[in-house]
Amino acid sequence: MPFRPVLLILSVALALGPSVATAAPRVVLAIHGGAGTLPRAELGPELEAGMRADLARALKAGHAVIAKGGSALDAATAAVVILEDSPLFNAGRGSVLNAEGVAELDAAIMEGHTRRAGAVAGLTRVRNPVLLARRVMEDSPHVMLIGAGAEAFADSVGIALVEPGYFVTPRRRAELEAAKARERESAGAAWRRSPFHIGTVGAVALDRDGRLAAATSTGGRTNKRWGRVGDVPVIGAGTWADAGCAVSATGWGEYFIRVGVAHAICARVAFKGESVEAAAAAVLADVADLGGDGGVIVLDPRGNATLPYNTHGMARGTIDAEGRVDIRLWED
Ligand code: ASP
Repeated sequence: MPFRPVLLILSVALALGPSVATAAPRVVLAIHGGAGTLPRAELGPELEAGMRADLARALKAGHAVIAKGGSALDAATAAVVILEDSPLFNAGRGSVLNAEGVAELDAAIMEGHTRRAGAVAGLTRVRNPVLLARRVMEDSPHVMLIGAGAEAFADSVGIALVEPGYFVTPRRRAELEAAKARERESAGAAWRRSPFHIGTVGAVALDRDGRLAAATSTGGRTNKRWGRVGDVPVIGAGTWADAGCAVSATGWGEYFIRVGVAHAICARVAFKGESVEAAAAAVLADVADLGGDGGVIVLDPRGNATLPYNTHGMARGTIDAEGRVDIRLWED
């Protein structure tokens, strides 16, 4: 009966056909450029086009790494470096400014299958904070280094240092002046209102071996003082990766720390068997219940991605294994 196996294969292929065709694309990299994107009219066409172009470059750089068989860690790093170098996002060059007019930068990186992690906070001279976070992970016995000590470590491992003025852009100076004016008018209460976060960057990546990584980088909040550090470099709050889930967050950092957002999402996936969509929605609802807002990007080893937020908009994008790019700033 030589025809039987052929018929069997044919009928299985026919039965699978429609579901294969409609299956969600296998996302290999998701990125964000911060929750709280300005409304389209306020952002303006030039800035919108610039942000979309830089998000596309970051997605393609990460995809190129994975397409060549590179690691999720390298892909997430490559994407975040591009967004740190762009002056349009709140990370690296173009970061928001603290109360003294200085960019004070935080970043973190984590590898899923090993749960190795590195984080840095309060940097003023490291050109690419995510690269230093990675060196902390790979070349030091520590997980988190801050301030002058972190910069001394950077120097010792040959990481590029720049003058603090490198990070400052006219747009961020104007935002700082506006924030100071709001603070004067509200007698300090402005800090307790939603900060209208703009531009923190992050990436979650999946490589051909099914390994995940997450990376996040930020200048934090405009007009911050007293060495304020947000959720980004707090492993489990703004950044987390394990074997089954990777998360990079953006939003009102104080709330994201209190909820342990990134770890909470992955814990729900691991222990409750929830999808990344369900887990992210539940944890963002928890943030909102406490009074916070923001968004997350989440990826699992099957390439299921979710990019929810509860702010006005969130700059975000995905690229699938075939290199198809999807970039959105609002509900567009
Ligand atoms: N989460 C960051 C922080 O609180 C800010 C942001 O995502 O916009 O430092």
